[in-house]
Amino acid sequence: MSKNTLHAAPKVGIVSLGCPKALVDSERILTRLRAEGYEISPTYDGAGVVIVNTCGFLDSARAESLAAIGEAMEENGRVIVTGCMGVDEAAIRDAFPNVLAVTGPHRYEAVVQAVHAALPPDDNPHTALVPPQGLRLTPRHYAYLKISEGCDHACAFCIIPQLRGPLVSRPAAKVLAEAQALADAGVQELLVISQDTSAYGRDLGHAASDWRGKPVRAHILDLAEELGKLGVWVRLHYVYPTKEADDLMPLMAAGAILPYLDIPFQHASPAVLKTMRRPGGHERLLERIRSWRAQVPDLALRSTFIVGFPGETDADFEALLDWIAQAELDRVGCFKYENVAGAPANALPGQIPEEVKEERWHRFMQAQQAVSAKRMAAKIGRRIDVLIDEVDEEGAIGRSAADAPEIDGAVFLNGDTGVAAGDIVEVEVEHAEDYDLWGSRVSD
Ligand code: SF4
Repeated sequence: MSKNTLHAAPKVGIVSLGCPKALVDSERILTRLRAEGYEISPTYDGAGVVIVNTCGFLDSARAESLAAIGEAMEENGRVIVTGCMGVDEAAIRDAFPNVLAVTGPHRYEAVVQAVHAALPPDDNPHTALVPPQGLRLTPRHYAYLKISEGCDHACAFCIIPQLRGPLVSRPAAKVLAEAQALADAGVQELLVISQDTSAYGRDLGHAASDWRGKPVRAHILDLAEELGKLGVWVRLHYVYPTKEADDLMPLMAAGAILPYLDIPFQHASPAVLKTMRRPGGHERLLERIRSWRAQVPDLALRSTFIVGFPGETDADFEALLDWIAQAELDRVGCFKYENVAGAPANALPGQIPEEVKEERWHRFMQAQQAVSAKRMAAKIGRRIDVLIDEVDEEGAIGRSAADAPEIDGAVFLNGDTGVAAGDIVEVEVEHAEDYDLWGSRVSD
């Protein structure tokens, strides 16, 4: 019997569903388990237990979560459920009475305890080593950086404040230490995530913590400024259109952080925004967007919208179309409204028929496609920096400052196999389609 067999480390499989925030949770669980000597199994077969990190936000996500639990039960049979859907233990146990344990989001300790119970840790100290930057599920060259949990807003369609509680920010020094470790490990792009990035540190009274011998406030401006000194791309997600967004513009203009803002506007009609319990003032927002672009001409604006929210009239929807035509956002996602179990919006009058939602969604996407195509075409002939994501025999695929991974477009370098994932290269844009670009590396 070989030494390896004698000391075979226990193996855990993980299925991670949902948003980047859930992915960060999975990474934390894995980091902790790896530090305790567990190995991560890429297949159901090799795993002594499988963790399913679920999403419980929309009904469709709950269905996807249940399907994933079902698959893990069938393929492996020893399953621990965590994540947002874990708060509804009854629904999970109704469908799968034999799951080993069910925990809610951010219950790292409970998940790890459940793994210990199902599959005791190995006591070989050599397997207990973990790289200081932790283990990541994203490719080596980019990483999500979670700066806070929870949310103090009360949007009518959302149950995240119920699921995850009020805003709890991490001290700036902790975030910066994690960011530094990631940069030291070769990460080229940090994606800052939270439920509300502008609100970062409000719960801490923006208290400062010591980073490299000087105090840094838990405030998005101070944090972004320090992150900008790490020499990697820094991309901000889920920023509210508050004064903080205005104040970030000089950092973007100076190239300290990427000229990219992901702001979930959700709608543009004042009446719909009011029933959504979202901040309004979209007329003034158009002025702000103009002012941001005057300061940062390459600013890429990403947003998400919901169509078919209860009570949305034809006039509300037309106002939204008019607004997106004027705002000329670069990247836009659009969802058809769905009831979410436990959300206040479920009880609102004026629920919209599915076929109307469908029709509005198509009209919205068409309108935005025209905007996007125009903005992309304007890039032909320009030189842009591209971070390479993958290379195969047909060429390389990367992203520009305007493209977040998974959700935005790509830049294709057809036939270029002389680069590697993680390289940042200068590319001349030769061709554009609605969401993607094609170009060639600029030779020095
Ligand atoms: S800002 Fe609104 S939509 Fe976002 S997490 Fe908070 S309550 Fe939910």
